[in-house]
Amino acid sequence: MVQAPEETVNKENMPRILHPCHEVAEHENLIWVCDGAANVGQIGHAIGVLLTNTGKGRMCCTAAVAAGSKPHVEIAKKAKKNIVINGCSNRCASKILEKAGARIDYEIDISKYLRKIPTLDIYEADVEKVAKIITEEAQL
Ligand code: SF4
Repeated sequence: MVQAPEETVNKENMPRILHPCHEVAEHENLIWVCDGAANVGQIGHAIGVLLTNTGKGRMCCTAAVAAGSKPHVEIAKKAKKNIVINGCSNRCASKILEKAGARIDYEIDISKYLRKIPTLDIYEADVEKVAKIITEEAQL
């Protein structure tokens, strides 16, 4: 069962305040996760949190882009790099960015590395394994 990676745990019991996406997009690797309701989607979500909290990028609201929120579509269009994390070959997060007209600089289908299972229980080792692949391939 997942135990949050060290970097995702806030030991001071205070929220870690992030810069708003619209202020940093041009200088930041923006991370878009599908957040699918299967192990691979939730692993992708946990990787988005991990990469954000370790300063490799900044997770932004994929659902807002899907909903057509103009500020969020603009954020995606002006990102330094768009890193898209899909749980499976349906590529939902990638399709959302494509429909919005945003450039995709790197995308991954986690199910190429881990079997998709209908569970929300995930493992820290899987999160770290795929996060390492993304970090290396996307040069974060
Ligand atoms: S890419 Fe796969 S896991 Fe992610 S939301 Fe779509 S169907 Fe679900």
